[in-house]
Amino acid sequence: MTSAPSHFNSPSAERFPVVVVGAGPAGLTVGNILRAAGVDCLVLEAGTREFVEQRPRAGVIEEWAVRGLERRGLADRLLERAERHSECEFRFDGRAHRFAHTELTGRHHWVYSQPLLVTDLVREYADVRGGDIRFGVRDVRLHEPDSDRPAVSYTDPDTGERRLVHCDFIAGCDGPRGVSRAALPARARTSRHDYGIGWLALLAEAPPCADRVLFGMHPGGFAGQMPRSSRLTRYYLQCPPGDDPADWPDERVWAELQRRLRAADRPPLTEGPLLEKRVLDMHDYVVEPMVFGRLFLAGDAAHLVAPIAAKGMNLALNDAFLLGDALVAHLAEGDDSGLDGYSARCLRRVWEYQDFSRWLAEIFHGVSDGDSYRAGTTLARLRRLFSSPAAAAAFAEQYLGTADTY
Ligand SMILES: Cc1cc2nc3c(=O)[nH]c(=O)nc-3n(C[C@H](O)[C@H](O)[C@H](O)COP(=O)(O)OP(=O)(O)OC[C@H]3O[C@@H](n4cnc5c(N)ncnc54)[C@H](O)[C@@H]3O)c2cc1C
Repeated sequence: MTSAPSHFNSPSAERFPVVVVGAGPAGLTVGNILRAAGVDCLVLEAGTREFVEQRPRAGVIEEWAVRGLERRGLADRLLERAERHSECEFRFDGRAHRFAHTELTGRHHWVYSQPLLVTDLVREYADVRGGDIRFGVRDVRLHEPDSDRPAVSYTDPDTGERRLVHCDFIAGCDGPRGVSRAALPARARTSRHDYGIGWLALLAEAPPCADRVLFGMHPGGFAGQMPRSSRLTRYYLQCPPGDDPADWPDERVWAELQRRLRAADRPPLTEGPLLEKRVLDMHDYVVEPMVFGRLFLAGDAAHLVAPIAAKGMNLALNDAFLLGDALVAHLAEGDDSGLDGYSARCLRRVWEYQDFSRWLAEIFHGVSDGDSYRAGTTLARLRRLFSSPAAAAAFAEQYLGTADTY
């Protein structure tokens, strides 16, 4: 946290009720909710518009999150273009095992890539709702977020000048490496879990071999297929943490994917050029509380969940719905209840999803470390999903995020 700069009372300083730092799914959703209610806000983003609209990451959105976007007028294009998945598939012991979650719950997973969602949200915020968004800003600093006079400063990318913006609230939506986490006071508690494994995250210019998510549990390591569109597919390969993507030439990648995802009664994967290859060291963290004075954290700035269960963007959207609505209630109606309960309400779903992610990590990686005892219990858990309706229902509820209350 940085204290007020000497030009704190500068006449050139601007004022907005809310400054949102970061134009990812969380920040853009908060901005859109505020604009729809006629609340002025400023979104500051370090990347260019092209960069944020093209950065490939998530793709799976839960149905409650789609409905939340729809209620706020943010899902028109998503509803036209997204695919709906009604099942996923586990592959182990050389066979494919379909898990038809929609038959069990009536709910779907939606597949819409993060770049498409971010593009829609930027367009709605800036071009339709007339919101102020400044791309490419440098050296953003938060000033006195713990006080009732917070401010944010940044360097204008065109002029090189420092700009100061006074505000009532700062929404810290700038992800894991942003300034909001760096500005947390000493009393912030960060709980962290390291899985001790890596995932090679791949984006292939190739259609998925089936229109469903595939989870491959193989003695050689986990492999996964996550369809993104009819021509793009995300794949994952378990690898040692810190592995160098350069050690994974395309031929090695495809050979491992084919081997780990092979199933007797299924066709091989469709291969194609690999557009992205990066190693993720799998870890989670949670910052508690998510509020420090006038700084409200949302999304990955507050909690990271490794992409094991495809939950991070969903949590970012949940935070954004709660924060956007709470800020509107406070600023437009003087109702503080949403802001007062914000952190506790977010954290209930956050911890549920963290727990599911750890449970699923055990399923994904339990057969591959050479420990025959661990492999035996992992296979027992997997078989139970297909033999016990109670186990299947519990999995579906967590996989789809459909519990009645969080
Ligand atoms: C390979 C991969 C696959 C994934 N798949 C899924 C999935 O299928 N489903 C799912 O739910 N989640 C998934 N996730 C997680 C998901 O991508 C994140 O949880 C999501 O992006 C979080 O959104 P956010 O808005 O909190 O943060 P971000 O998307 O990280 O946005 C933060 C923004 O802040 C900007 N910023 C950073 N620092 C500053 C600064 N100092 N000043 C101004 N701006 C700054 C950044 O440029 C960025 O635009 C995946 C992640 C990865 C890596």
